Amino acid sequence: MKKPFITKEQAEKIISEFPTPFHIYDEKGIRENARNLIKAFSWNKGFKEYFAVKATPNPFILKVLKEEGCGVDCSSLTELMMSKASGFSGKEIMFSSNVTPEEDMLLAKEMGAIINLDDFTHIEWLDELCGIPETICCRFNPGGHFEIENQIMDNPGEAKYGFTKEQLIEGFKILKDKGAKYFGIHAFLASNTVTNDYYPNLAKILFELAVELKNETGCDIKFINLSGGVGVPYLPDQKGNDIFAIGEGVRKAFEEILVPNGMGDVSIFTELGRFMLAPYGHLVTTVKHFKHTYKEYAGVDACAANLMRPAMYGSYHHITVLGKENVPCDHKYDVTGGLCENNDKFAIDRMLPELEKGDVLVIHDTGAHGFAMGYNYNGKLRSAEILLKEDGSTQLIRREETPADYFATFDFCDMFN
Ligand SMILES: *Cc1c(COP(=O)(O)O)cnc(C)c1O
Repeated sequence: MKKPFITKEQAEKIISEFPTPFHIYDEKGIRENARNLIKAFSWNKGFKEYFAVKATPNPFILKVLKEEGCGVDCSSLTELMMSKASGFSGKEIMFSSNVTPEEDMLLAKEMGAIINLDDFTHIEWLDELCGIPETICCRFNPGGHFEIENQIMDNPGEAKYGFTKEQLIEGFKILKDKGAKYFGIHAFLASNTVTNDYYPNLAKILFELAVELKNETGCDIKFINLSGGVGVPYLPDQKGNDIFAIGEGVRKAFEEILVPNGMGDVSIFTELGRFMLAPYGHLVTTVKHFKHTYKEYAGVDACAANLMRPAMYGSYHHITVLGKENVPCDHKYDVTGGLCENNDKFAIDRMLPELEKGDVLVIHDTGAHGFAMGYNYNGKLRSAEILLKEDGSTQLIRREETPADYFATFDFCDMFN
């Protein structure tokens, strides 16, 4: 069963200072999980996790991860700027963008980030824009379906990302001619995988490709970036990934493929987002209204603008009613936000304890791709973000938006002064 990392008493204390809705993050959980990941890959000398900033773009969270030894994976100008402000520089930053604006690439180059090219045509473009750096990475797309034991995991052939294998071989040769010295390979083939086999299978594909690229092009391959995609169990009865089994699976492939080919010094990189943060975030919201029509509705003060995944993907997010953890779930509700948009439901036909006005709900696993995907539809304002520190105290790490923030882009006229 899923247990919140805050109690009703803790929540009430926080709410007296910061009204709901808000996102809260568990620093202790984030740190422990990051340490386990690094331990699971400690067999690899150059291992580094580049946290995918898009999952939880908050400088205070980035600083916590930096203290644990992580770098950052950015894909836009503002993500680069936030990373810089959080103290990251140079090769602590991976720039994995696509359809990249000139301005973004120029900043990445200026900051000394590792540039991960998404497309063959970007070689020429980068060369003309600002020159080819010494260290360069290219993103691979094998096409077709990505399968593990005959089960289709995802459909890279339909994905917009990456080079084909032929383009990669040709591209490495061109990059080498243009002065690149150190090479990396990157691929992201399946999202939110809840299996210990995803990374080891991906690693095998990339390790074999690395051997082939080395033999065909003579390029010095320094790192292989397994990117994101290691998932978390959103369902209460789902078994999570075992990061130590995953690390061990990648180690086996490494020993089998890279070591015999004289590539035992290759570094393994990851760009995990969801795995690093999702379980360590809650969206906390208060029950405001009830409605009895053809169904039973419980209306809360958060809405899809605070957490888009259920509305967008039909994703399950577990809900705990604080203080009613041991009350039987014998009432069925649709839990809804207030957008004028019928998919604004955090849960449909969910069995919960009988709800009352003022009940505080914890919506679980919102630490990644939660706040980050927020938006302002219906003029709804983004919530605050709060960090639950290791000593049990709380720190505001982003204030809630105000109407002035919403109207800030009309500052060229005087209508909202
Ligand atoms: C989104 C993304 C990630 C992180 O993915 P998760 O599923 O959150 O682990 C990593 N790398 C790139 C390039 C991405 O676009």
